Amino acid sequence: MSEDCIFCQIVDGEIPARTVYEDESVTAFLDANPLSAGHTLVIPRDHHARLADLPADLAADLFGAIHRLGPAIESAVDADAANVGFNDGEAAGQEVPHVHGHIVPRFEGDGGAPIHAVGGDRPDLSDEELDGIAEDVASNLG
Ligand code: AMP
Ligand code: ZN
Repeated sequence: MSEDCIFCQIVDGEIPARTVYEDESVTAFLDANPLSAGHTLVIPRDHHARLADLPADLAADLFGAIHRLGPAIESAVDADAANVGFNDGEAAGQEVPHVHGHIVPRFEGDGGAPIHAVGGDRPDLSDEELDGIAEDVASNLG
């Protein structure tokens, strides 16, 4: 628990939320300022700021909950699709520093955008630069 974290306060019941799912490691509740009907946040109950901070078993539990919740949410609001994503870090738009996955139901013709809309100016990368990035990522994984 992080004292001044609003999502920890939701987990502890100190702040009300429209909870839609709960198990021993994960909680999900409706976003208070929804991008669409059914917009849901899925969080680990323990406080971790970034995805990479999660222990592997908790990351698996979190994705398991997202996997279950997707169809339940889409069906509840009669959605045609959903965007699922994490703002992972402040530079990526993360405002609440407690890991949370967004499930945003989408509707034909709703005027929204695909997840590609999150990017800034597109870089112009050469084949050599792309090869170098791919090699660096692979070697970082050991
Ligand atoms: P992010 O920019 O990824 O950190 O998103 C934070 C999300 O938390 C936003 O979509 C907010 O609308 C949502 N939010 C903030 N406070 C609450 C709250 N008390 N209950 C539910 N959702 C919240
Ligand atoms: Zn927290």
